[in-house]
Amino acid sequence: MDTILSVRNLVKNFDDGGKRTINVLNDISFDVDKGNFIAIMGPSGSGKSTLLYNISGMDRPTKGKIILEGKNIDNLSEVEMADIRLRKFGYVFQQPHLINSLSVKENIIMAASVLNKKVDKNIENRANELMRLTGIIELADRDTASLSGGQAQRVSICRSFMNNPRLVFADEPTGALNSKASGEIMNLFVDINRKGSTIMLVTHDPLVAAKANQVWFLLDGIIYKKEVLGPWDKMQASLINRKDIINKIMSEIEI
Ligand code: ADP
Ligand code: MG
Repeated sequence: MDTILSVRNLVKNFDDGGKRTINVLNDISFDVDKGNFIAIMGPSGSGKSTLLYNISGMDRPTKGKIILEGKNIDNLSEVEMADIRLRKFGYVFQQPHLINSLSVKENIIMAASVLNKKVDKNIENRANELMRLTGIIELADRDTASLSGGQAQRVSICRSFMNNPRLVFADEPTGALNSKASGEIMNLFVDINRKGSTIMLVTHDPLVAAKANQVWFLLDGIIYKKEVLGPWDKMQASLINRKDIINKIMSEIEI
């Protein structure tokens, strides 16, 4: 399988305002296969968000190499990095951060209009296709302030996929949703992943992580364990099995 992202000897330290250095990520190395769907778990404060931000160009590692499709991206200028983020990466956060003065469709198209000065038919078509895929096509002209949490998260997922990202990073995307909406959003990530997108998703919820292909556990600054579950067959019984496997590891490491 092709590697899309390689991380080598990643170290991330924070300065706590002078005297002490906090070491959050301690010499982490891994490869991400193209088309994989990886859930990242770990205790609160273990560095899950920090890991995601440092490998996705939102923050800079203290040390180490980040290699995207064979090219180093850790040494790029801010402008070059912004370009990579826009063209190659998609981001989904716990809060969708939509612009309320714009409609659902306008929010989604906005991502593409930064790259393409003119919003042409292709961009419109892509937005429509994504809204259909995520089940929000009827909401296209709605004001985003009136959406439910689950609907708003669907809009942010569409927005993050507008530029056909190579890799999608999601930080607790279901963290603010009820369990039904959370399950639906995860099903959407599963479908999107089956269409070929590579996904790295941080969650603290074992039922959410159970739908990923692999679950990586972050502990004490390193990836303590990688559990390979394989693709989920979409059966409820197997989901419960997978959740049990995750729960067992979580209790082992006292999450
Ligand atoms: P998680 O997402 O697993 O809950 P984080 O990655 O947010 O954890 O944080 C990991 C550790 O790094 C925490 O101790 C946090 O306080 C610290 N940290 C995160 N960002 C910063 C920052 N910008 N400055 C200083 N410390 C930070
Ligand atoms: Mg976090």
